[in-house]
Amino acid sequence: MRYHFVVCMKQVPMVSELPWDSRSGRLRRDLADGMMNPACKHALEAAIQLKDRHGARITVLTMGPVMAEEILREALAMGADSGILLTDPKMAGADTMVTSFTLARAITRECPDFDLVLCGCHTSDSETAQVGPQLAEELNVAGVAYVEKLDLQHHTVRLEREADDFLETIEMDLPGVVTIATQRYTPRYASLGGLQEAFDRDSITVIDAQGLGLTPEQIGRNASPTRILDVYSPAAQKENIVMRGSAKKVVEDLLDQFGDQIAAAIGKDLKPNG
Ligand SMILES: Cc1cc2nc3c(=O)[nH]c(=O)nc-3n(C[C@H](O)[C@H](O)[C@H](O)COP(=O)(O)OP(=O)(O)OC[C@H]3O[C@@H](n4cnc5c(N)ncnc54)[C@H](O)[C@@H]3O)c2cc1C
Repeated sequence: MRYHFVVCMKQVPMVSELPWDSRSGRLRRDLADGMMNPACKHALEAAIQLKDRHGARITVLTMGPVMAEEILREALAMGADSGILLTDPKMAGADTMVTSFTLARAITRECPDFDLVLCGCHTSDSETAQVGPQLAEELNVAGVAYVEKLDLQHHTVRLEREADDFLETIEMDLPGVVTIATQRYTPRYASLGGLQEAFDRDSITVIDAQGLGLTPEQIGRNASPTRILDVYSPAAQKENIVMRGSAKKVVEDLLDQFGDQIAAAIGKDLKPNG
């Protein structure tokens, strides 16, 4: 059996170069260089390792502006076989629900034989972590988020995911969707030679809304029920408090004043009994 994996990836702005328009209070994404979202690299690495072990074809898929093609080329240099770029000004402004809907439409039309869709666990710019689970819903297949490790056994995939203090092992029937956590699959580098070859290769399909059979009412801002109204840095609220006295008194005062916050953060009640 030769598997078909689809890796969804998003181009995000390079944070170090992200210009901030203080007048409008908005990020000027249009002025920043783009890069492959770091978590998507982990998802691609997981797919490549599965391909090396079991044999597979990897299609990388992104929805974004025209320049998002760069991350597909980088993915080809890392080990993907082909790429699909969904781009159309009418797709812009999509929220996560409409993004998942559009990606699902592309997968069912262009990759109907897919076995596994791999996503990053979240993006570095919007970070909702919603697209993977919503994609499973749209495709009407099973989905597991924050997967640490995965392996294939014919028509099932065995997954490990860490949840708080315990490790879960899950078996999921294929086809399915996973989002990959960032601990285990350290992404490989794309070699310079590989990049050169990836830019020469003719393995990217570009599709617009019409190509997906979608009307402007079904996609982008038009169809999105959520909108970001504002983005801003919250004002830092810091206060220095000096506690004096013996170590015992300082600990007692600390728990007295901040016991609830500490307990909430570590999930344990630290207040001394009586
Ligand atoms: C023309 C155009 C312009 C766009 N401009 C912007 C923009 O300025 N800002 C912005 O944030 N988004 C933009 N998008 C993309 C889209 O709106 C977002 O991708 C979407 O809202 C994802 O939300 P998130 O980042 O919170 O994803 P999360 O749910 O945090 O992402 C989790 C995972 O889902 C997958 N994923 C998420 N988004 C995409 C995608 N677009 N393509 C493929 N896989 C994906 C990745 O595997 C990712 O690791 C644009 C799209 C188009 C077509």
